[in-house]
Amino acid sequence: MPRRQADTFGIYVHFPYCLSKCPYCDFASRAEAVIPQRRYTDAILRELRTQAPRFTRNANARAVSVYFGGGTPSLWDPPLFAEVLREVRALFPVAADAEITLEANPGTTDEGRFSAFRAAGANRISIGVQSFAPRQLVSLGRKHSGGDAVRAFQTARAAGFDNISLDLIHGAEEQSADGAARDARTAIELNPEHLSCYALTLTGLAEEVPMAKAFRRGELELPDDELQATMGEAVRDELTRAGYRRYEISNFAKPGREAVHNSLYWRGLPYAAVGCGACGFTLNESLRSGASADPQIREVGRRWQNDRSPERYMERVEATGLGESSAETLTAEEHLRERLFTGLRLADGFDLMELEHELGLPVRKRFASQIDRLCREGLAERDASWLRLTARGLDLHSEAALRFF
Ligand code: SF4
Repeated sequence: MPRRQADTFGIYVHFPYCLSKCPYCDFASRAEAVIPQRRYTDAILRELRTQAPRFTRNANARAVSVYFGGGTPSLWDPPLFAEVLREVRALFPVAADAEITLEANPGTTDEGRFSAFRAAGANRISIGVQSFAPRQLVSLGRKHSGGDAVRAFQTARAAGFDNISLDLIHGAEEQSADGAARDARTAIELNPEHLSCYALTLTGLAEEVPMAKAFRRGELELPDDELQATMGEAVRDELTRAGYRRYEISNFAKPGREAVHNSLYWRGLPYAAVGCGACGFTLNESLRSGASADPQIREVGRRWQNDRSPERYMERVEATGLGESSAETLTAEEHLRERLFTGLRLADGFDLMELEHELGLPVRKRFASQIDRLCREGLAERDASWLRLTARGLDLHSEAALRFF
């Protein structure tokens, strides 16, 4: 089982601009007729310089992932993208084999652009396919066709990307379990290294998106929870049969092609984050220091969120060097909860003893009855000091994880 590599961190760079705004999207993204490419890039460069010292104090630390997310970062002018990546490498100790991902949407790239991103150093592309079916693409407000998605994939391959991930969404209007399975099969035929398959979700921040409002007004019918769960099962069956391993609740990969960047999140490792709406996280060097203090008040880390408005973000960076609009310190107790919650998302789970050692908290003793009960109910299993959810447990992840709180 892969261990959590202390001393590793990730770097997230957010590019908020899109060709159009999808009605279900709650990301910090917006459609702009003219993207302020130079001004936004300058803000990113400046924020990288301000954040770098937070991550380079520890001489052993190294970045194992750089992730360009959005929005649609494949709309970034390739020379400006290259400038950002050069600055990342100049400011941070980036591992020679670091995963460098660029999110792309079908219809925003041609071979020239993909080749330029590859030449600049991107070595992984994540394509927002969502569905190949015309009806679902219209319902999701996507401006591309299934054919565009296939072409984007083939173009990325031709440009030299040997690590490609595809995003699929199930649970859109008028979709059936057969339709969701068909999308999965079409994706499998392309032979990507990785797939992320999410259910359409209109809760949390997404409660205010146009699709959620239309649904509440009764103007839109969506598959109910049961049907959505059946679709998820159908997708999982297709992917598993094709040799993809479900290594996280919604993520599937060929062996050795698990996403490095998202795995940092799930393993509670730190990440720099620049760009509008980006969220970053730092951990104190020793999580154990002051271990005798009350874990409810002992601080072990800090989390921040950048302004979600691109305009305000750029103004903040131009004035202060940072885009932060809010920040909070993290206590040992809060970090423990997050580690349990996200660690249980992984099919491999996590090492309870390691967590105990890192945080200086008696995790096994404290949660012995919850762990026993989860194992008795077939939702979790233990292997030495590792705890992981079973396939059924992963489907009921929130319910299982909440037992610890
Ligand atoms: S392309 Fe992606 S980021 Fe942009 S609006 Fe659509 S879902 Fe949101």
